[in-house]
Amino acid sequence: MTYFDHNATAPLHPAARQAWLEAAENFIANPSSPHRLGSRADAALEDARSRLAAMIGCHAHDIVWTSGATEANNQLLHHFAVTLPPDASICISAIEHPSIIESATHYFGARVRLIPVSRDGTVDLHWLAEDLARHRPGLVAVMAANNVTGVIQPWEQVAQLCQRWEVPYFCDAVQWFGKEPSQGLGRCDFVSGCAHKVGGPRGIGFLKCPSQGRFKPLLFGGPQEESRRAGTENVAGALALVATLEARHGLMAEREIRRQMRDGFVQRLIAELPGVEIVGASQMRLWNTVAARLPEMDCRQRWVVKLDKFGVAVSTGSACSSGKEEPSPVLLAMGYAPEQAGQVLRFSSGWETGEKDWETLLVGIEQAARELRELASV
Ligand code: PLP
Repeated sequence: MTYFDHNATAPLHPAARQAWLEAAENFIANPSSPHRLGSRADAALEDARSRLAAMIGCHAHDIVWTSGATEANNQLLHHFAVTLPPDASICISAIEHPSIIESATHYFGARVRLIPVSRDGTVDLHWLAEDLARHRPGLVAVMAANNVTGVIQPWEQVAQLCQRWEVPYFCDAVQWFGKEPSQGLGRCDFVSGCAHKVGGPRGIGFLKCPSQGRFKPLLFGGPQEESRRAGTENVAGALALVATLEARHGLMAEREIRRQMRDGFVQRLIAELPGVEIVGASQMRLWNTVAARLPEMDCRQRWVVKLDKFGVAVSTGSACSSGKEEPSPVLLAMGYAPEQAGQVLRFSSGWETGEKDWETLLVGIEQAARELRELASV
């Protein structure tokens, strides 16, 4: 199979596999156990924490290991739900991942304001600046890069704005880590990430949040993670997460080559299928993502199945909405009509994707278009 669904999850990187296997064999004890084997596991976990903190540009104590980004995002919203005054409101972008939108709605209901986005999928900074001045929300959440469109959000400006108004800023950087340099993220008050979007194992993620016991846990039942997240830590997962991120960080200089490969595909796609629209085309996007609206598409699930038959795995949007026919809320928030949003397919590559893979995807799309056209004319 040619795999173009990395934004949903990515194949395991050899460095992550090796780190995981070595850790699972070598660190057999619970890192909280007082014996020497426990201390060894604990030292390995703390080593992973320090290395991750160095990549983000924050203090090691500010990292809490979680089971993934969904947990980290829920944890964050829960913390603000129990610490903000009962009448406080929060601002989140309209294109956040469901793990933020749904938990925000669960905890804050009508006290959530959605930051609008442009047709090209970037958050409206003027709107946010005005909202900060008028309502002073208790929290602002804007992701680093969108999982459906790949559009990079102005998170550094958001961080500055929030700092000016002394409002905590939370950045979901799941799609950013391992694809773009992560150093500056340390300036955001809260950051979430996970391993499996760039070659780490599933089931491990983290939240950057303040230490010193100021963070309210979502999970109770143990003093792990300085009482910010109870439960035995996933030592092998943490080491594998760091191994894959470090391996990816060594590749950052090659982003431009990957971007050119992606753009070459886009140009040929537009030439082959007139009327194709690239979502967020005018904005800076992650080098690996193309969300394309295909003009002749009546049912995108049928396209996914057809491409699957030709040996190419693509997506209709985020993994969470795969298998459902509802249009992506991200595209609706960008102003696409439901039937237009229903014509969008997402192709997301990885560091290992080469010219040949993009070529296979293009041939697959052409073939699918031909067959579906023939079917429609019968
Ligand atoms: N945030 C974003 C932007 C995502 O793309 C995803 C996964 O699709 C998540 C959060 C959830 O991550 P996890 O699968 O680690 O729970």
